[in-house]
Amino acid sequence: MTNKTIKEFQQLMKELYIVRDQQRGIEKSLLWLQTEQGELIDAYLKGDTSEIVEEVADIFAWLCSICNLFKIDLESAAWNKYPNKCPKCLGSPCSCFKK
Ligand SMILES: [Zn+2]
Repeated sequence: MTNKTIKEFQQLMKELYIVRDQQRGIEKSLLWLQTEQGELIDAYLKGDTSEIVEEVADIFAWLCSICNLFKIDLESAAWNKYPNKCPKCLGSPCSCFKK
């Protein structure tokens, strides 16, 4: 599989799921994201590495779906907030905890 950008992945989630996501709505989609985060914690506590991989993928997919509902470009939002440096201390690496 060739590597694609976050933007392309978010677009794929839109093509696959936007109709269902719109029917479900933002509040229920946020609850699903929370559920997936709980499943990631369970996988970690079990020490199940392959399940951890699956759960992080699910979390990312749900986050993309939620961004589609909010009409947010996740890739741009992430780079705008973290432009190659920590948004708080503006350091790279972050030095927030050194203070
Ligand atoms: Zn920092």
